[in-house]
Amino acid sequence: QCAAVCPTGAIIVKSNLKDVWKALYDDSKRVVVQVAPAVRVALGEEFGLSAGENVMGKIVAALRRLGFDEIYDTSVSADLTVMEESKEFVKKLESGDTTYPLFTSCCPAWVSYAQTKHPELTKYVSSCKSPMEMFGTVIKEHFKSRDIMDNKTTISVAVMPCTAKKAEAAREEFTRNDIPDVDYVITTTELVKMIKEIGIQFNELESEATDMPFSLYSGAGVIFGVTGGVTEAVIRRVVEDKSQQVLKEIEFLGVRGLEGVKVCELPMGELTLKIGIVSGLGNAEKLIKKIESGEEYFDFVEVMACPGGCISGAGQPFSHQPEKLDRAKGIYKADKVSQIKRSEENPLMMALYDGMLKHRTHELLHVEYRSDNV
Ligand code: SF4
Repeated sequence: QCAAVCPTGAIIVKSNLKDVWKALYDDSKRVVVQVAPAVRVALGEEFGLSAGENVMGKIVAALRRLGFDEIYDTSVSADLTVMEESKEFVKKLESGDTTYPLFTSCCPAWVSYAQTKHPELTKYVSSCKSPMEMFGTVIKEHFKSRDIMDNKTTISVAVMPCTAKKAEAAREEFTRNDIPDVDYVITTTELVKMIKEIGIQFNELESEATDMPFSLYSGAGVIFGVTGGVTEAVIRRVVEDKSQQVLKEIEFLGVRGLEGVKVCELPMGELTLKIGIVSGLGNAEKLIKKIESGEEYFDFVEVMACPGGCISGAGQPFSHQPEKLDRAKGIYKADKVSQIKRSEENPLMMALYDGMLKHRTHELLHVEYRSDNV
């Protein structure tokens, strides 16, 4: 295993590129890959394309040429996260426990921060696995019987904008029977390296579609890539009025924009829910202090460790503010053109809940974060 340098220069991160190459050339392995939402609006920059240009179709084509057997979009499991987190949010509201808000759990850097610096909060961090880990579990379950039939082992790879996802994949909670649900995480810039290494002319590639049966996802799943996206997706799920007008109104609640701290109010029945959205751990710390001192109250708080969310993750090509803005625009454009806007309208969700997840939702999609299992 070799080491790669984090683009921020802050840390040296482990690279699994050699392991991935090895698996790709091993006939006894079925190599399955998922690609996170934020990757599509940044990877093209390394090939001279504009920041924010959605190159997901080209990424799929490149991954196929690299030899990956099945290619999926993490937006699918972001839809699963929305389904589960919305349920948890409603349950929390019904419980009447107003000590702390429900904190999101998609960002592993935030989860570790909460566990180490604020053990008192861990009970209030959502028990939902991150979209990457949910998909990792679903992929391993899906290919379990086929692996026996084909005498193969499924290797699950995730292309992420993030270096913290490598540590997340290695956590004990995400290993079942000593096998990790996500075997290897490679960053956006590591994928660029692979593409360049075998000389794929990325810009010349025609767009290709992801594979069945996990090929459907909603715009709500795609917006996970930017700060406020998880919140907007959850609001789309929990509001009763599913009209186009309300969908549009949600955009203007204050969930969008790259500010490090955003606050919005959501009328729900007789209640007005208060929602906080923070990106950057410094901003999270300030918000926690305000909550603990009683200065602020929130029902739901989304935390992303990277300023602006995953679009500016440490595994992405290095970016300045203008690129970040363009990447965010690219994410919202992808949502705009998606036919399915809400996670619950994704037909794949129903198929999963009626099939693999039946009676196993908690076992497969949730995790318990405690202060002693960092
Ligand atoms: Fe990773 Fe940053 Fe996204 Fe958190 S916000 S999941 S650290 S890329």
